[in-house]
Order: sequence, then structure tokens, then C-alpha cells
Amino acid sequence: VPGFENARVAILGLGRSGLSAARALRQGGAIPVCWDDNPEARDRAADQGFEVFDLREGGAFDDIARLIVSPGIPHLYPAPNPVVVAAQAAGVPVDNDIGLFFRALAHAGWEAHDTLPRVVAVTGSNGKSTTSALIHHVLEASGRAAQLAGNIGRGVLDIDPPGDGGVVVLELSSYQTELARALTPDVAVFTNLSPDHLDRHGGMGGYFAAKRRLFAEGGPDRAVVGVDEPEGRFLAGQLSEGPGDDRVIRVSVAGKLGGPGWHVFARKGFLSEYRKGRQAGSIDLREIKGLPGAHNHQNACAAYAVCRTLGLAPRVIEQAFHSFAGLPHRSQLIAEAGGVAYVNDSKATNVDSAAKALSAFRNIRWICGGLQKDGGLEGLAPGLANVAKAYVIGREAAGFALGLPGIEAEVCTEMSTAVERAMAEAQPGETVLLAPAAASFDQYDNFEQRGVDFTQNVLARLPQA
Ligand code: ADP
Repeated sequence: VPGFENARVAILGLGRSGLSAARALRQGGAIPVCWDDNPEARDRAADQGFEVFDLREGGAFDDIARLIVSPGIPHLYPAPNPVVVAAQAAGVPVDNDIGLFFRALAHAGWEAHDTLPRVVAVTGSNGKSTTSALIHHVLEASGRAAQLAGNIGRGVLDIDPPGDGGVVVLELSSYQTELARALTPDVAVFTNLSPDHLDRHGGMGGYFAAKRRLFAEGGPDRAVVGVDEPEGRFLAGQLSEGPGDDRVIRVSVAGKLGGPGWHVFARKGFLSEYRKGRQAGSIDLREIKGLPGAHNHQNACAAYAVCRTLGLAPRVIEQAFHSFAGLPHRSQLIAEAGGVAYVNDSKATNVDSAAKALSAFRNIRWICGGLQKDGGLEGLAPGLANVAKAYVIGREAAGFALGLPGIEAEVCTEMSTAVERAMAEAQPGETVLLAPAAASFDQYDNFEQRGVDFTQNVLARLPQA
């Protein structure tokens, strides 16, 4: 990262992104000054030769040019972080690795060239990883150089950006968009919005505002916006430069979009692209194994729209969709036995994503529960009609089960019990689905570990083939 030669740059949080920021800054001639409340993380930084300094000390920011904060560290809600407050009091700009990445790009003069590498950034409540991975997959399958980074894949400062004609695809969470001082993707995507992480953003308004930063004035040349929620419609309306403009591509799975603009929507399993009132492309999504359910059709529409802005033909995109394997822990079919399908959707960590997963299957033996998020369980209602019975896990399983009115729910607490019970009761034609509608941290390190636990419990109980 250029622009900080011989300057001291403070780094708060020494996980993956913090350490990669430290390395990138050092490479650019800056002096990283590192802190993490966790002593093991500090030791790792010291092992890599970085100066470790307690940023909580008075006067710590006297000679600091910038503070880089990790996305995992709450800086404003539920309580202001004292290190961030001290930096702000000393007039030190607060930033993160994403901001440094865009700053480095601007310095490299990429924006001055017509021969790209382009940067595509994807945000939204759900579908970010799937959409980002799908864009990356289509680009690679069509022979374009592409890198996947950000919240998925590698840290942005760890990638080696591809040369002319290449594309960097960034998945950005609200934690990442809210603090980055520079956010200048060429194409920005907003998949959808539903309550999540409200404790970190002070409510729904702050959450939307954090995502909205990706679309600031002077931001993306092209915006792909899911318009199935009022916030998306607001965003599309604000960005639009008038009827028939090419800046905004509206995406919907809720109905047909009309008018003179650029639209991509999916209805009854068919994706359609309309531009200036004319159909410009279509894909039969029902044939695409790696993208089951209407929620994945939304991801497919968004990825399709991005690839169109990058000049790919509909047929090329369609062909690449067919070879997309899907991501682990997202509607992942892990086994089929005795007429029962076993699906791991451990990534359904919030109510909306779980409701979407429930809507994608029928006759569900549903394993759910965990660390409940703010906002309640009412949002599950659209999917509950497909549930034969719920098997509730988590430390607060009993409380979670009480929040599921109108369906039969058994308190299992442990994954092994839930899998055993669901498998014992599942009938041919049913689906055993892990879609927790809750975070995993009460019982697991992360959602991946939870998904692996589910998978292993299922596979261990299936008759050996
Ligand atoms: P993110 O990276 O935004 O968390 P993922 O692609 O990892 O998104 O999917 C997270 C969860 O949300 C998955 O479990 C999946 O069932 C669900 N999901 C995926 N795409 C969508 C979508 N477009 N709308 C709602 N839920 C979705």
C-alpha cells in the first residue's frame, strides 16, 4: 500500500485481514504498529517482525497517520471501542483493509486506463458469497483472469491483481463497507436486505447505511440492485440517471420488471434480461443443479447482470452456470439415501436465509437453532408450511422452540441428537435440512464447523454403500 512511506500506521485486530494489512503497509514502506486484545494474536504479529504496541495507552495516537480496524471488531455499537475513540479524538483517520485496497488501486493508476482490471464488489444481507463465487466462476470458465477476495476467498491485500482485462471480485460485508475510506468499485452489487447484525449497526437504518456506502457519489459505473425490498428500490431510484439509463440494472425474483431500463428477473425458473424494452437474453435455471431455489435464482440474476456489464454473452454465462458446483454449507446436498435427501445449509445464520432455504424444499425435517439474532423469528413464516417437524439445537434450544408456533418442534440441544431423531423419523420423499436461522457461536467456532458436524453425523449413520 503506497502513500504511507515512513509513517506509523496503527492496526487494531490481528486476524487474517489485520495481518495482511500490516504486511501490505510494510511492503509500501510504512511502519505498522499492531494491537489485539488477544495475547496469542499479538505473539503472531511479533513473530512476523511487527511492532506490538498497546493502543489503549494515553497518547498512543500522537504520531500515527491512520488506524486500520478489523471487520470483526465492533467500533461503535453496542459500545464505542476505546481505541477507535482515542484515534478519532486525536484526529487520526479510521480505515480498514478494503479502504487500503482501493487506495492502492487508485495509486496504481488503474482508473486512468480503459484496459482494465475491473473491480466488482458484492454486498447485501444474503447471497453475497454465492453471487461472488458465481461471478468468479463464470469469468474463469469464459477464459477471463479473475480473483475472488474480501469476505470470501483471500484477504484483499493478499491478492495479486490480474492484469489488463482481468477482474477482481470482492465480497464485502457491512462490517467492511462501513469503515472503508475509499470504496470505488467499477460494478457494485446489492443483493437484498433483511435484518442481520443489528447489534453492530445500531439498527436497520445503520445496517442499510453501511451497505449503501458502496454506492456513494462518484462510486460505481454500474450498479446491480436487487429491488425486492423497499431499500433496494430506493437505492435503484436514487442511482438511476433517468428512464432507460444503463447505470442501474434492476434484479428481481418477485415479479416481472417492466419499463425502458435494464432489468434481469427470474420467474418460474426462467431468467430474462430486458434492455430498453427488448428481451436481450434468457436462461432456463431449472436445469442448473448448483443453484436450487428462488434465492439462488436471485443470485444467478445478479451474477448474470454483472457478467453482462463485463461484456459476456448470455450463452457463455448459461454454459458456465451449468458447471457451477455451489458452495459448501449453502443448500449443499450431502447425501441421498432411502429416498431422503440430506442438505447442509449451515450458512443460513439469519432468519431470512433460513426462510429461503425452507422455501426451496418440501416435507422438511428441519434442524434449527443456535445463538438467536435480534429481530425475532417471525420472518420464518413463509417457509414453515414446508416443515414436517423441527429438531432444535443450541444452548437455548427450549426458548428457540417456543418461538416456532404452529409447527411440531422437539428440543434436541445437541447436533448428534437432532440428526439421530430426524433420520429416525424421516420418510421417503422428505428432506433433512440443517438451516439454523441462528449464529453458531454458542456451540461452534463458526458455521463451517457446525456444517461439518451435521455432515459427519449424517454420514456416520447412513448404511455403508
Ligand atoms: P452471504 O455471503 O451473504 O452470507 P451466502 O451465499 O453465503 O450469502 O448464503 C448465505 C445463506 O443465505 C445460505 O444459507 C443460503 O441458504 C441463503 N441465501 C443464499 N442466497 C440468498 C438470497 N439471494 N436470498 C436469501 N437467502 C439466500
